Amino acid sequence: MAKWTGRSKARKNNIVEFGKEMVRRSKSTCELCGESGRSLSVYEIGKTDENADFERCVHVCDECKDTIKKLNKAGENDLRFLNHAIWSEENTVKAAALHIISEIEDRSRYSWIEDLMDMVYIDNDLKDICERMKH
Ligand SMILES: [Zn+2]
Repeated sequence: MAKWTGRSKARKNNIVEFGKEMVRRSKSTCELCGESGRSLSVYEIGKTDENADFERCVHVCDECKDTIKKLNKAGENDLRFLNHAIWSEENTVKAAALHIISEIEDRSRYSWIEDLMDMVYIDNDLKDICERMKH
């Protein structure tokens, strides 16, 4: 996984630098659904700390954010972004997809999600980020 040059600065809560890094990493597209030209915001998966945890943050469009917030009311098509996010080269984005999937109460409604889970390889780095998202 790429190391962040701006990471230590981000730790000091340098929001501007942090935002720039997010723009660079996401190439100004939503990291979850891959759409460009939408307004994006930084979304921290899991608990929100005083200092943002860079490795739990994803750059997301408003639509994806809305879906995450009312996950268990989301329709089949609303969740299609997971199919994009899970193949991201960024472990954080992959972990975000896995975390979101784990929060869906009735996964049996979406057989394709189970298929997706069968295909994805979870290495130790990815597992670590997933763990951090849980708390
Ligand atoms: Zn999106």
